[in-house]
Amino acid sequence: MLTVHPKLIESLVEQTPRAMIAMLIVSLAYIGVFIKYIPFNILIIWFIFQTLLATCRFYNAKSFKKYLRTKNQEGIQKNEIYFIISNVFQAIMWTMSSILSILYAPQPYELVVFVMIIGIITAAALSMSSLYKAYLIFFFSMIIPQIFIMIYYGEHHHISLIVLTLIYIPATMLLSEAIYSSRLSSIQAHDDLEKSVNKLHHLSMIDELTNIYNRRYFFEMSQKLIAIAAREKKQLSLLMIDIDYFKNINDNYGHQVGDFILINVVKEIEKNIGKSDVFARVGGEEFTILLNDTSLDGAKVITEKIRRIIEDKVFTYNNITMSTTISIGLSELNKENTSIEDLYKQADKQLYIAKKNGRNRACP
Ligand code: GH3
Ligand code: MG
Ligand code: MG
Repeated sequence: MLTVHPKLIESLVEQTPRAMIAMLIVSLAYIGVFIKYIPFNILIIWFIFQTLLATCRFYNAKSFKKYLRTKNQEGIQKNEIYFIISNVFQAIMWTMSSILSILYAPQPYELVVFVMIIGIITAAALSMSSLYKAYLIFFFSMIIPQIFIMIYYGEHHHISLIVLTLIYIPATMLLSEAIYSSRLSSIQAHDDLEKSVNKLHHLSMIDELTNIYNRRYFFEMSQKLIAIAAREKKQLSLLMIDIDYFKNINDNYGHQVGDFILINVVKEIEKNIGKSDVFARVGGEEFTILLNDTSLDGAKVITEKIRRIIEDKVFTYNNITMSTTISIGLSELNKENTSIEDLYKQADKQLYIAKKNGRNRACP
């Protein structure tokens, strides 16, 4: 399991290149200020390390992105550790800059570096708070060496700086925690909204009882499929299914048993149609199946199979066994029936004939 919300990592990854550029700019500014005092070779070596570190962190962000895309949890966790390690190295580099200024530059230049480091920690609160643990590690690896450096100096103004830093620590931690929580809650609100939208979308197309498409979605989808079939000159058939004497089941056993039969008739039919076919509940105990790429003759074969399966099926509900039958009307896309409305009307007419002729049959 991931300990951090993937979207928080995403936001961190987005910030990383910008943070790296800012870090290199600060590094150059540091060189600009101290070039007079610190030997050039040392500054160059220091800067090369900074650049290498920036490159590593940039690649770290890139592979984070890749693992997030492929949802590779192991990879994400490994990257999280690399991220923390590279930040500790980053803190070591800034501590080095502090030590160099003390070794080579006159007072009060070490205070310039101190201010620079406090600035970096504050800016990092914005870019790194998404990975709160990593930020805390970075924060303390930056601040603790500074405290020791100030203690080592032991002068009056250095001691006052330690006191100020001790006040600064909880303030910055509170700030970064606030940033972290507000990011997390906005992400969670966004997630909730996304879930509701998906649920609404699902409800708008699926029949709640039987979990197949509803009437609205059926007509919408059929229009599209008929347009494609007409354009590609492919065959297409429509089945209209109605359970026979369904009212009797409700009357004899109750509505709950009626629902049970509806659900299980749907399950039986579903097993016998293809994935590209559109199966929907268009009324109480009425269903349609739009058979893609299927002629009327092909549809008749499928119809007969379904009819027989339902006829033979014994449904059991709380020790009550019962069986039922279905009647089916068929129509196909042709010169007379060119729209879903035509197909539907024609299949309904055929269903009426099947009912009139004694039920448990298909027409034509
Ligand atoms: P026929 O053979 O002519 O189709 O007869 P029938 O009894 O199946 O048809 P009728 O139209 O008279 O009755 C359909 C019944 O379906 C009436 C209604 O109460 C019931 N019904 C509709 N929707 C549901 C539902 O969601 N659950 C249950 N249990 N019954 C439903
Ligand atoms: Mg009916
Ligand atoms: Mg019926």
